[in-house]
Amino acid sequence: MAQRNILIQGDPTLEKRCRPVTDFNPRLHTLLDDMRETLAHANGVGLAAPQVGVLRRAVVVLETNVDEGEEEYMIELVNPEIIEADGEQTGAEGCLSIPNEYGIVTRPEHVKVRAQDRFGSFFEVEGEGLTARAFCHELDHLEGTLFTTKATRMLTPEELQAAEEAQAAQATEEA
Ligand code: ZN
Repeated sequence: MAQRNILIQGDPTLEKRCRPVTDFNPRLHTLLDDMRETLAHANGVGLAAPQVGVLRRAVVVLETNVDEGEEEYMIELVNPEIIEADGEQTGAEGCLSIPNEYGIVTRPEHVKVRAQDRFGSFFEVEGEGLTARAFCHELDHLEGTLFTTKATRMLTPEELQAAEEAQAAQATEEA
């Protein structure tokens, strides 16, 4: 496994539509392994193949809705499609390809995704809250769509600072 370089907004690769994965071969497995490592290192909740320069329909999402004491885990989605979406959530969203910027984006509260695993088997997975947001955000990447085109507005530097301070205060309380 190896970390890959995450492309930053402005790179034309991020605005291209990705092709379906057709070969479920060792090359795909290496890509997914590398995406897992890259995502873990970046402390993100999702990463799409085009963000590491590969124009194929593959994403990795961190499932953060786990019971207390259980480990968060990554879900690999190959050729994913949203087959159900319900509810609505409006909140701040960011992207590993757009560092230090956050925007207000409305997403479904719950989605069901149909995808293939790394061996080509179809499965369905559901996401709530942040996980639903991550599924939508990563699937948008496969269409060459960045969250900044969907944000109703971007957070101001003052709002960002306030959010960071609130987070720091919370971390202190928890420590
Ligand atoms: Zn992103």
